[in-house]
Amino acid sequence: MAYKIAVIPGDGIGPEVIEAALHVIEPLIDAEFVEGEAGDECAEKHGDPLPEDTLELCHEADAILFGAAGETAADVIVRLRQELDLYANIRPVRGFPGLRELTGEPYVRDDVDFVIVRENTEGLYSGIEGRFRDTAYTLRIITEEGTRRIAEVACDLAEERGSNTVTCVHKANVMRETCGLFREVCKEVVESRGLEFEEYYVDAAAMFMITEPERFDVVVTPNMFGDILSDEAAALVGGLGLAPSGNVGDRHGLFEPVHGSAPDIAGKGIANPFATILSAVMMLEWLGEDEAAEAVREAVGEAIREGVVTPDLGGDKKTMEVAEFVREAALNRV
Ligand code: ATP
Ligand code: MG
Repeated sequence: MAYKIAVIPGDGIGPEVIEAALHVIEPLIDAEFVEGEAGDECAEKHGDPLPEDTLELCHEADAILFGAAGETAADVIVRLRQELDLYANIRPVRGFPGLRELTGEPYVRDDVDFVIVRENTEGLYSGIEGRFRDTAYTLRIITEEGTRRIAEVACDLAEERGSNTVTCVHKANVMRETCGLFREVCKEVVESRGLEFEEYYVDAAAMFMITEPERFDVVVTPNMFGDILSDEAAALVGGLGLAPSGNVGDRHGLFEPVHGSAPDIAGKGIANPFATILSAVMMLEWLGEDEAAEAVREAVGEAIREGVVTPDLGGDKKTMEVAEFVREAALNRV
């Protein structure tokens, strides 16, 4: 059966990296790709950064591949998360051999492989804030239901990866009620799934992610901790140009690079397409197209090993040259 995939290129380098990712996956799955508008340019044209017909397209689609939105990013992505109930943010942290040498960054690790599952709808980003005279405050809401469903996603991922442990990152020694509930519910869910429950305080986790990242496998954590830890982890495996993400719920999945619209390099054809190609890999996995997903991931690894990379990784290739290489390398594998 052919999939219907909603494609939202958006602004800046969004359309360039999306073109590259589609070039790679098009020959590998039976799908209809339907383009929708969203972002700054769309807002200028239609007076709305996320028009009804784009929203409708996302509702109908089997999956969504998203590029980037500029100034309107918060409106677009936050709204999509709410409308489609995309409560889990999934950020794989996976190194590729050769990356440390390519980037020249001593902290880059070629050998790490873990995944961060961040709760996407509550916690410190609930948006319930206020000011009273000279005092500002925010409400940190953590619910049993919200925690239960994110913990289940982490357990599903652990099972898919063949891991037996889920690691909960929290700060329950200080935030006894909110983190206390998060920890308690995660522990209950993880153990009821027959998996082992591990835990770290977030400060310790931040340190070990650099010094001993091999400690981690599947990490589940509340909203803001996940936001911060996943950027730290992205640096560990080569930075923004390589970091993919998925926003998933019970029915919908939206996949996008972690980076934004990068206006400074837009239109030059030099944007690194790996983050978006790897987001498409996550989408393929989520759809159950594991063989195609693995072929593309290995093809990205080959491009990195061969030095077929854009200028941000020290190469001299254009976005579409990299895409062409990855497409051919992936096709050779299926
Ligand atoms: P936005 O407001 O849309 O987030 P930004 O200016 O914050 O835009 P980001 O996309 O977050 O830009 O990128 C931050 C920096 O990283 C920019 O200098 C950008 O050029 C670089 N960068 C981001 N993504 C890529 C990529 N895919 N390839 C190469 N460089 C990138
Ligand atoms: Mg940015």
